Amino acid sequence: MLQKLFIISNRLPLTIEHQNGSYECRQSSGGLVSAITSYLHTSGGHDFSETIWAGVPGCSEKIWQSAISSTQQGDYTYLPVFLQRKDYEQYYSGFSNSVVWPLFHYFPTYVDYNAAYFDAYIRANEHFADVLSAQLTANDVVWIHDYHLLPLAGMLRKRIPGLTIGFFLHIPFPSYELFRVMPKPWQQAILTGMLGADLVGFHTVDYAAHFLNCAERVLKLQHDGQMISWDNRQVRADAFPISIDFEQFNNAYSEERVAAMRDQYLEVKGDKKMLFSVDRLDYTKGLSNRLRGYEQFLQVNPDYIGKVIFVLVVVPSRDSITKYAERKKMIDEFIGSFNSRMGNISWQPVLYKYGHLSFEELMGLYTACDVALITPLRDGMNLVSKEFVASRKDQQGVLILSEMAGASKELTEALLINPNDTNEIADMIKMGFEMEPKEQQVRIAAMQDRISTYNVNTWAADFFDQLYHVKSQQLAFEIKFLDNASRIQLLDAYGTSAKRLLLLDYDGTLTPFAKLPSLAVPGREVLDALQQLCTNPANDVYIVSGRDANTLEEWLGALHVGLVAEHGAAIKHPDGLWEKTIIAEHVTWRPQIEAIMQSYVSKCPNSFIEQKEHSLAWHYRNADKVLGSLRARELYELLMAQTEGLSLNVLNGNKVIEVRMKGINKGMAAERLLLHDHYDFILSIGDDLTDEDMFKRLAAVDGAYTIKVGNEASFAKYNLHTPQMVLSLLQTIGHYATRMTGV
Ligand code: UDP
Repeated sequence: MLQKLFIISNRLPLTIEHQNGSYECRQSSGGLVSAITSYLHTSGGHDFSETIWAGVPGCSEKIWQSAISSTQQGDYTYLPVFLQRKDYEQYYSGFSNSVVWPLFHYFPTYVDYNAAYFDAYIRANEHFADVLSAQLTANDVVWIHDYHLLPLAGMLRKRIPGLTIGFFLHIPFPSYELFRVMPKPWQQAILTGMLGADLVGFHTVDYAAHFLNCAERVLKLQHDGQMISWDNRQVRADAFPISIDFEQFNNAYSEERVAAMRDQYLEVKGDKKMLFSVDRLDYTKGLSNRLRGYEQFLQVNPDYIGKVIFVLVVVPSRDSITKYAERKKMIDEFIGSFNSRMGNISWQPVLYKYGHLSFEELMGLYTACDVALITPLRDGMNLVSKEFVASRKDQQGVLILSEMAGASKELTEALLINPNDTNEIADMIKMGFEMEPKEQQVRIAAMQDRISTYNVNTWAADFFDQLYHVKSQQLAFEIKFLDNASRIQLLDAYGTSAKRLLLLDYDGTLTPFAKLPSLAVPGREVLDALQQLCTNPANDVYIVSGRDANTLEEWLGALHVGLVAEHGAAIKHPDGLWEKTIIAEHVTWRPQIEAIMQSYVSKCPNSFIEQKEHSLAWHYRNADKVLGSLRARELYELLMAQTEGLSLNVLNGNKVIEVRMKGINKGMAAERLLLHDHYDFILSIGDDLTDEDMFKRLAAVDGAYTIKVGNEASFAKYNLHTPQMVLSLLQTIGHYATRMTGV
C-alpha cells in the first residue's frame, strides 16, 4: 500500500512575492527544509509515494491561486491551510507567541493569559486537523513541527487512530514549576495533544525529562525511562539535537564571494579585535546582558578601548507583537547611549545593524571575527553557534556561548557563560581575545568533529528510525487477551515440548493482594497446581518474586520449585541452596532511604515499610487511595533525586515504591535461568512493572509465552484478567500434561 509523508509546520516553507505586477513563489531555504529534503534523497526516505507539506501560506486564498501554478514543486506537494485573519492573529501572535513562547523560555511575567487566545489556538489546530484528515489514511506518516501545533497530534489521533505521528518541539520544554502556572485545561490540552504522537522529540534530554515529569504530574501517568503509556499506546520522548548542514558552512569558507566579503570586513577591522553576534530581535536572546558584559570588559580592561569593535546584528522578527516592538526601541536607545558613553570621536565600540544579512555577509562575519559572543537567556538550540563553528575552516576563532542554550550541551569546548553573570562575560571576552591559536584550533576542531557527525541529515534520519522503532514496539505492547485459540496453541506447544521453563511471579499473579504482605499465604489450590507442574521432570518451575528469600522458603520451600527472591538478588534452584547473584552490597544507603520512607509512613496512614535483604519497599495498598497515590508520587520523585548517581534503582510498582541495587531485575533473573538448560517452551506470568523486564527479555525468545495479569498494555504477548484465571490456566496445563505424558 502506498504511504505518504506529511510534514506539518505553522508556515509553509514558501515565500510569495509581488513582482512586476504578478505574484511569484519560491521555496524558502531553512534548516528544516534541508533536513527533510536530504532525508528524502537518502535510502530511508524512498518509500513514500508523495511528500506533502502542510501549513499556513502567508497569503490569501486568492493570491495563492494566482501565485501557485502547481501545488507540486520540487520534492513537495504544498497543502495550504487558510485561517481567518483574526483567528490567525490570536493563534499566532496570541497563544503561540504571547503564551507558549515566553513561558517555555522562562519568561512567565511576559505571558498574556487571555482565554480568547487559547480558544483561537485550539480552533486553529482543529482546522489544521480538518484539512489534513481529508487527505490522510491510516497508513501515512505525519511529522508535526513546533509550538504552534502542540495539540494537533492528539486531534489527528482521535480522527485516525492508526496513524504514525512524530512531533518535534524546536523550543525548550519548561520544568513543571513553570508549566503549571498555566490554567489546568491549557496544560492538559498541550500534554494530551503532544501524547497523540508516537514519538515526541526535543533538542535535549533535559527538555524530554521535563515533558515526562509534567505528564506524570498533570495527567498522573507513570513513565518507564523514555516511554510513557497513554491511551493504551506507548509514547517515546527523546532528544534529537537539531543541527546544520555542516558541509555547506564549512565549504563556504573558500567560496569566492565569501572570501571577498571576509576581506572587506577584515579591512574594517584593521588591527583591532573583533567581536560578533547575530540573532533575531527577541527578549530571549540576552542582548542587554551581552552589552553589559562588554561594557564591564571595557571598564576592567581600559587598554582595549579603541582596539576592539563589536559587530552586533539584530534580525527583525515578529514586529507586530508589542513586546517585540518595544524591544526594538529599547535596543536602539541602549546602543545609542552605550556608544556615546563608551566611545569617542574616532571610535565606536558597537557597530550595530538592524536588518537581514545575506549568506555571504553572514559567512564573512563568522569567518572574520575573533570571538563570537552568543548569550541567550534561554534558547531551544541556537543554530548560530553551530554555524559559526562549522564555518571556521581555518579552525581559528573563539565561541563564547550561554549555558542556557541547548547547543551548549554539544559545544562543550566553547567558553560557556551564565548570561546573567556580567563579570563572567567580561572575563571570557578577555580570555577569548587572548587565547593562543593552538588552543583555538583544538577547541574548534573538537566541536567541528561533533557537529559534522550528527548533522542535519543524521538528525532527520535518526528521528524517523526512532519513530518506526516506537511503532513496532507499540505492536508488541498491545493488549491481547489469551483467548481460546491462543490457549489451545499454548497447550499444544506445551504438550509437544521436551524441556520447559515456567517463570511465575507470586503476588498479584498466583495470589491476589492481601491487606498485609504477610497475609498473602498460598492457598491449597495454588500449592496443588504448582505441585502438579513441578513433579513433571520435563518442567523447571521457578517462582520469580520481589519477596525475600525467607518468606518464599517458608511458603513454597516444601515444593520442588526454584525460587527467585528480591527480583533476582538471590536464586535457589529446585533441590539446590540459595545463591546470591550480586556481591554483598554496601549497606550505607539503607538508613538514609529508610528515614525518608519512614517520614512517608507518618505522612500516609496505613502505609508501611517492608525490609528485604537487598531492598526496602514502601507499600501503600492499605492507605487512602487519593492520599496514597499523591504521597507515592512525591516519595518517588524524592527518592529519584536522592539516589541520583548512586547504584540504586527506584521502582514504581503496583502500590509499592521500592529501592534496590541497580542491575537486579527479573529480566536479568530470566536471563540466568534460560542458560540453565535448553528449553523449547517457556511460560512467564506476572502482573506489575517489575515483570515487564522479564517480558522484554523473553520477547525475542522462540517458544516463549508471556502473560500479563491485569487489563493494562504490556510487553507480554497476552493478558489474563485475574490471578484466578492464572490458576485455572496452570491447572489446565498440569492436567493436560498428565493426560498427554502420563506423569
Ligand atoms: N539568519 C537569518 N538571517 C540573518 C541572519 C541569520 O536567517 O540575517 C539565520 C542564522 O543563520 C540561523 C538562524 O537565522 O540559521 C537563527 O537560528 P537560531 O537557532 O540561532 O535562533 P532562532 O532565530 O531560531 O531563535
